[in-house]
Amino acid sequence: MQTQTITSDSLAKAIRNVPDFPKPGIQFKDITPLLADAELFAAAIDLLTRNIQPGSIDAVVGIDARGFIFASAAALKLQCGFVPVRKKGKLPYDCHEETYDLEYGSNTMAIHTDSLRPGSRVVLIDDLLATGGTAGAATSLLQKVGAEIIEINFLIELSFLNGRDKLKGFPVRSLITY
Ligand code: AMP
Repeated sequence: MQTQTITSDSLAKAIRNVPDFPKPGIQFKDITPLLADAELFAAAIDLLTRNIQPGSIDAVVGIDARGFIFASAAALKLQCGFVPVRKKGKLPYDCHEETYDLEYGSNTMAIHTDSLRPGSRVVLIDDLLATGGTAGAATSLLQKVGAEIIEINFLIELSFLNGRDKLKGFPVRSLITY
């Protein structure tokens, strides 16, 4: 497959904008057409991992739920493990938890306390950066387990929501920016 010739623009064309989902006023970025295309999916993984040498990190950390799709494929490519950050109540063993504010209410994310050894070098991946609350909570969880975040990668960034403000001090990259 010639994934080297596929650019972020080609990926962007495969993302469907669904207005008013899951509630009025939200423009949902639907990645399923991209995932269904083998070449585009492979190119997305190549682009998400292009700064990292296979074997040079200990794990790719993925965020529940669409982040898992990209993070697990990236982990295979980078020859390292995959570690999930999940919504509270989903992981079965001892967890660290981190709560962050939403527009209405709050959300809590969790990671297994034994998921990574202190000093582990990790890349964090999610499908989309919006307000940054979710990824910010994930960075706090990774600090609780003592991991070193080498890079944070998103397929999509909604830059007008200033999510990067919650990720200050970390190298953040996104393939497609709106
Ligand atoms: P946030 O915490 O505001 O940065 O939201 C990021 C999380 O919410 C990601 O895990 C996304 O999967 C999801 N998300 C937020 N906004 C959208 C959107 N417009 N389209 C698709 N997913 C979204």
